Amino acid sequence: MGSPLPTWLLGPALLVGSLGQLAPLAHAADAALPASRIQAPALAGFDPITGPRSRLGRDWIGIRPVDPDTPILVLAGHADSQGMNGAGTSGAAVAAGAPPMFPGISDELYWNMVVAEAVVTLGRQRGLRISSYRPPFRTIPDGNHPSTNWSVGRQHAASGGYALEIHFDAWGPDGIGSGLIPPLHRPFSSLDESLAAAFGGFPMAFRGGLGGPRRGIALLEVGKLEGQLERSLRNPATRSDTVLAIAERIVTALEVGLGRSPATAMPLSPPPGGVGSAPPGKGLQASSADE
Ligand SMILES: [Zn+2]
Repeated sequence: MGSPLPTWLLGPALLVGSLGQLAPLAHAADAALPASRIQAPALAGFDPITGPRSRLGRDWIGIRPVDPDTPILVLAGHADSQGMNGAGTSGAAVAAGAPPMFPGISDELYWNMVVAEAVVTLGRQRGLRISSYRPPFRTIPDGNHPSTNWSVGRQHAASGGYALEIHFDAWGPDGIGSGLIPPLHRPFSSLDESLAAAFGGFPMAFRGGLGGPRRGIALLEVGKLEGQLERSLRNPATRSDTVLAIAERIVTALEVGLGRSPATAMPLSPPPGGVGSAPPGKGLQASSADE
């Protein structure tokens, strides 16, 4: 906090001036665009898989084109901030007394890692230039340490890549819902646009501009970690399909944003019978428990 927002945000060229204040017009930006296959059903801002979408309204549109081979870096939110402020939401289940998905880390980080890994696996299958980064320690108090998500993501974005950090939003009244908090280092891009079309969007200066977006990192809130979404993730019978459906939606949005043709026409639901190739908890294997 403290430093002003980037100056390009203040210029008229890429602000959506004609849309004015969007607080009550959450769908105005979407409505200006061609109908997209990746757009989640707008049932009063509620998605059948990910639950409520952000109702804060979107005051931006991403129109800057990107190279179809833009390298994409996927980060699991809060992977370097366990046991400190900003560890991520516990989720409603743990708050109600359920055991955490994995000892010592927030349930949000657990699901962030699972989804991030599924996105990279699926993205590679689809031929995207996509990789992930995981910090070597789960607690790095200095956000500017060179091995944090922030630092590695900033570097990736500065060199022309797209850095996408996966999050789940807080349960209960503290959470807002699903949506993209766009990166602020450059004018908003077609990748920002397609992710926001698929998940919803937050205002560009959400909370005064968060640390990640100020460094050029897109924050994707998949959904509030509560209710049906959390139950579907926690239930071993529905976990794989749920993770896959989320990853599918993200990867398809990336394909659209990159100007590629989506490889599948079913972004909103898992393939019939499920695929089962997104093993629950696989995202944790590369993470050692000792730090
Ligand atoms: Zn988070």
